[in-house]
Amino acid sequence: MRVLAAILLFVSVLALADDGNYTAARAAMVEELWLYAKFVDDADEARISKAVMASMNTVKRHELVPRSERRYAYENRPLPIGYGQTISQPYIVALMTQLIDVDADDVVLEVGTGSGYQAAILAELVGHVYSIEIIPALAIRAKQDLERLGYKNIITKLGDGYYGWEEHAPFDAIIVTAAASHVPPPLIDQLKPGGRMVIPVGERFMTQTLLLLEKTEKGEVISRQHGAVRFVPLTGEH
Ligand code: SAM
Repeated sequence: MRVLAAILLFVSVLALADDGNYTAARAAMVEELWLYAKFVDDADEARISKAVMASMNTVKRHELVPRSERRYAYENRPLPIGYGQTISQPYIVALMTQLIDVDADDVVLEVGTGSGYQAAILAELVGHVYSIEIIPALAIRAKQDLERLGYKNIITKLGDGYYGWEEHAPFDAIIVTAAASHVPPPLIDQLKPGGRMVIPVGERFMTQTLLLLEKTEKGEVISRQHGAVRFVPLTGEH
């Protein structure tokens, strides 16, 4: 009996590694995310939409992590990407994407390109993604990887995302994937009336609060908290 269980386990692990495209592993991750989202919400319906989950099922996370981390690419956890930085946990990527509630023709700014994964998830859902990374080697690698994967609606640049990207503003939504001590005023300025921004705010190397800010048509900013998260710090001279 034990031998049979071991064989079944071995076969299912092989199935997950599958054809080199990790198709089954990615689908298994999405299934896990549905269950996780329901559990976190303690509800019958998960709060992550089908469209966001479809994007999570499409983007090849294994192509955006270092080779040594590939086999873990579809585990629901952050992974190191070098230079002291991480690719975020898939559930947090899905949650942040859901919170900014994007439409197909939206223009979105991301601060903290990292591996390019969050940018790719957004690119499946919106018209244009602009993404800024402050570490030169990561900015170069993400640009090359996203081009190799065929993402034509993602424009990246090297820079300090604290100041946003004035040239392409205003944005329908802004997603900050590094922990800030406060909400950068230039990002609020660059958000469209009716726009949404998601950002982890709190102390460095501690847990932070995930904030969803909404700019009303009158320009007022309403803030809501969406739980505790842990991100690497937003760095830069600001
Ligand atoms: N979104 C990334 C992904 O999908 O892989 C993960 C982001 S990682 C948690 C945070 C990233 O923010 C790091 O790559 C870090 O170098 C970058 N970062 C930190 N401060 C920044 C700043 N002021 N401007 C732009 N990028 C910054």
